Amino acid sequence: MLKKKVLVTGGAGFVGSQLCERLLNDGHEVVCLDNYFTGQKANIVHLIDNPYFELIRHDVTMPFFIEVDEIYNLACPASPIHYQYNAIKTMKTSVMGAVNMLGLAKRIKAKILQASTSEVYGDPQIHPQVETYWGHVNPIGERSCYDEGKRAAETLFINYNKQNDVKIKIIRIFNTYGPNMHPHDGRVVSNFIMQALKNEDITIYGDGQQTRSFQYVDDLLEGMIRMMASRDDFTGPVNIGNPNEFTILELANKVIELTNAKSKIIRMPLPSDDPMQRQPNIDLAKKELDWSPKIQLEEGLTKTITYFDGLLKVNPAL
Ligand code: NAD
Ligand code: UDP
Repeated sequence: MLKKKVLVTGGAGFVGSQLCERLLNDGHEVVCLDNYFTGQKANIVHLIDNPYFELIRHDVTMPFFIEVDEIYNLACPASPIHYQYNAIKTMKTSVMGAVNMLGLAKRIKAKILQASTSEVYGDPQIHPQVETYWGHVNPIGERSCYDEGKRAAETLFINYNKQNDVKIKIIRIFNTYGPNMHPHDGRVVSNFIMQALKNEDITIYGDGQQTRSFQYVDDLLEGMIRMMASRDDFTGPVNIGNPNEFTILELANKVIELTNAKSKIIRMPLPSDDPMQRQPNIDLAKKELDWSPKIQLEEGLTKTITYFDGLLKVNPAL
């Protein structure tokens, strides 16, 4: 296999850190770039002694120059509480980050993959969501800094490909969970597991009937790597997610069952513009990438619970 030099932006985050490790294990050289807004050194500290791993503190809203073969552009906070904390910065990260990384890819002739999102479909009016669906996004709502930022990034990627022949790949990631998520990230899987492990109340926003389709991180990594390796004229966007759909209430009960928690479920207000349902149609990924998810919810949750339990054993005050 050809050893490649790979840049991972957002490499200290949940998915990015897992990707760095996977790429190193696959025999590549990895440069991890992050500004540590939501990422943590703890996610990558075990990689620092590897001579093929390099760590750079940098913000993607500023230009950056390096020589690499491939770029995975993941830099962007993904949890609603974090991306809404500084909405303008979130939009800048998506849009200016895309411009800077695409400019770099153009200059050095690197292939570049964009971590887009199911959020480009907004609160979808068709179900399950196919890549040809244009979405239903409120451009001025609470989630718009993220959703519209990611939509604009897709536009930039497609046009750098059309106008400048940059080799691009766009994946639309559906809710992904697993080890290296920040325990206080605010997303539903980490919230419920941390609450259950501490026997605290499980916070369901709204009536819990909204649905999500949860993908374990290892399946996402496989999808990303297959997409990067796919034929040049397949740019995507392609959905990468697990089509098994659960209500948030079902997720809460599953987490309680798997942790034997004494937690009780409490209701909290539903945030505005919270999508009612989400499920990927993955026919395109199956056809083009011969990819489908292998790890189902119970197995993935069990691995993730073990991870968070380990964190709590080291630091019970978490
Ligand atoms: P995360 O918040 O754990 O990781 C994002 C990383 O980007 C962090 O390390 C953060 O510090 C870094 N970052 C943020 N702004 C930056 C900037 N301006 N410059 C440099 N680094 C910056 O989130 P994640 O779940 O690992 O998500 C990774 C990518 O995948 C994101 O682009 C996200 O939008 C996308 N995605 C994730 C999911 C999911 O369910 N995890 C779903 C859809 C899309
Ligand atoms: N959610 C919840 N309790 C929590 C965190 C989230 O009920 O403690 C709900 C949230 O309202 C949404 C779903 O779980 O309907 C998924 O939320 P998350 O923030 O993980 O991701 P989203 O898919 O909304 O971006």
